Amino acid sequence: MASPIAHSFAGFWTFLLLTARLKVRLITACRQYLPQLVLLVLLANLPDIDFLFGLATDANANALHRGFTHSLAAAFFVALAVACVWRIAGSFWRSATLYFLAYGSHLLIDLCTGKKLGWNFTGYGVPLFWPWTEKFRSPLVLIVGVKHKDLPTLFSMENVQLCLYELLTFGAVTAALLALWLRHQKNRAMSHDRETEPRAVCNSNPIQ
Ligand SMILES: [Zn+2]
Repeated sequence: MASPIAHSFAGFWTFLLLTARLKVRLITACRQYLPQLVLLVLLANLPDIDFLFGLATDANANALHRGFTHSLAAAFFVALAVACVWRIAGSFWRSATLYFLAYGSHLLIDLCTGKKLGWNFTGYGVPLFWPWTEKFRSPLVLIVGVKHKDLPTLFSMENVQLCLYELLTFGAVTAALLALWLRHQKNRAMSHDRETEPRAVCNSNPIQ
């Protein structure tokens, strides 16, 4: 499985979608909408809660891993349930869509996670259409899953390298998305200025 680093970045991407309409700086948006940001990042990590279920029922973290929580049904259910409680994007369906995207990003990342990078069909697979137990995987592996057989493996040097890889690749994608976000903000501000300028001139001219 990919580490929480990759999933948290993906949660942040959905936050950028939420804030794309705001006319504020990103730092201000993060500060102003921190609870929303935290919620989206949590949703992007939520499917891996099955680790805890496994520990609670079987003392084995992997016993229930990549089950129901890694399915589209779970994504729909969670998105609708959370939207009933909190509509962060205004309307119910807009909020549910955003929640679905945050949760679904986890499934997409896990689909592309496997044992070896490249086009090699070594993906671990996820049961996208649970209760059908068939596991789906991308033939192209973009992320090598962190090892979590036991504690020494979890804190191994190999996992540190894998986390670093996620940090660099997802960090690079985030930097590109931020550049697009800032450009979008700038274009919006410029078109807003263009729209308001003639009105301001008319208002300041007493003859008209
Ligand atoms: Zn997962």
